[in-house]
Amino acid sequence: MTSYDVLIAGAGPAGCAAAYDLARAGKRVLLLDKRTFPRHKACACGLTRKTLKALRYSVEPIVERVCHEIVLQQAASNASQRALRVRTRNPICAMAVRERFDDFCLQQTLAAGADLRKIEGIVSIRETGSLREAAYLHAGTNGVEIDIATAAGIETLSAPFMIGADGSNGQTRRLAEGLRTSGEATAAALPADPQWYARAFALEATVPYAALPATLPGGDSPHDLVFDFAPLPGGYGWLFPKGDHINIGVGAFAPADEAQLKSATRTLLAEYAQAKLGVATLTDSGLAKITGQYLGMGGFAYVPRGRVLLAGDAAGLVDSLTGEGIHSAIVSGQAAATAILASMDTGRRANVAEEYAKRLRPLQETLAFSHRAAQAFYKQPARGFRVMRIPLLRSLVLKTYSDGLQSAKLLGVLAKIVA
Ligand SMILES: Cc1cc2nc3c(=O)[nH]c(=O)nc-3n(C[C@H](O)[C@H](O)[C@H](O)COP(=O)(O)OP(=O)(O)OC[C@H]3O[C@@H](n4cnc5c(N)ncnc54)[C@H](O)[C@@H]3O)c2cc1C
Repeated sequence: MTSYDVLIAGAGPAGCAAAYDLARAGKRVLLLDKRTFPRHKACACGLTRKTLKALRYSVEPIVERVCHEIVLQQAASNASQRALRVRTRNPICAMAVRERFDDFCLQQTLAAGADLRKIEGIVSIRETGSLREAAYLHAGTNGVEIDIATAAGIETLSAPFMIGADGSNGQTRRLAEGLRTSGEATAAALPADPQWYARAFALEATVPYAALPATLPGGDSPHDLVFDFAPLPGGYGWLFPKGDHINIGVGAFAPADEAQLKSATRTLLAEYAQAKLGVATLTDSGLAKITGQYLGMGGFAYVPRGRVLLAGDAAGLVDSLTGEGIHSAIVSGQAAATAILASMDTGRRANVAEEYAKRLRPLQETLAFSHRAAQAFYKQPARGFRVMRIPLLRSLVLKTYSDGLQSAKLLGVLAKIVA
């Protein structure tokens, strides 16, 4: 039986980013996923420049379109105030189809030397070795042991480290929470989510260009990249143009309460598609394939502990202003890998959580900033739109979305203006 240095639950962007770096560094890595790839994942798969930059390899073969223009829309009585079309010199966002993007990244990761196994789920997680008392509880453990359910039955795997990259609906975050108070956590008695964790929700569907009327009722061009803040509170509707179809969706990314979280529904998306794209029924447009998923938020307050590190949506690292999560997934997966490599190199394996916390902090600071900006923006999007009409501030916001937060201080000023 192969022994592994790191077990990774989830082979999405976070899991693959971690596995890729670990495998390239010569570590034995096993990815565990419930699904068989290529697999569908509800996602608009807009890849910002910072996402493309964070990846260790080019994903050009699966990029279907590159957008230099963005259309921002809002509910406004005055037609001239409703939309803002901005063209930029550098591309804002690359468009891909998530199923192909994930499969491409997985193939790169397997080629780098990682292994993959399909599992039915994780049955239990244990921290092994000597337990220390009080504040250092579990810090002195030797590793992680997990029971996995497979088609052939229950099997036990162990490794010095584990990364939970199993997304917003995964089990590892809750199992890791159970390990805070006990040496073992089981799926049969799954602990509650940690307090810092919050949820957003979004739905998407694809509409082939061939199914569209000659003129779109919303006045958009079929190849427009649209962010529309009119259809629901605490979030936006979108049109993301791909090679042969539009990905249309609605998401409540910074819901103020449970009612706003639940306002992103299939019915809303079907009505939105009718209003924007003129597609009449669910079946004539491909909208029958509406899929939705929770997004993991609140991770700016996540504090890593023990030998089970969380990354991506499992760690609540989606940006609340934009709903963008692939960038955080990649960056956090890579940070977890670097932390593991550092603690293995120095022989101080018990310090891995500390190492990870240090490397995750810049991303968490950016997300905390975004969270504050989202709270101000979604309270009154019209005020945010006023800011976006000022060319300097607009280019700053777009640069931040596309390239990352390099101008934190300037954006702090912007957040104050919006508020
Ligand atoms: C409708 C929608 C649109 C979005 N659009 C965008 C966008 O345009 N751009 C963007 O950047 N972000 C977008 N996001 C967010 C983005 O999809 C996520 O942030 C991103 O997928 C997080 O990656 P991850 O690797 O953490 O998790 P995931 O991509 O969710 O991967 C988790 C993996 O874990 C596996 N898994 C789950 N449970 C288990 C288990 N118990 N055991 C083993 N494996 C398990 C799953 O099968 C999956 O393969 C969108 C989200 C939604 C819902």
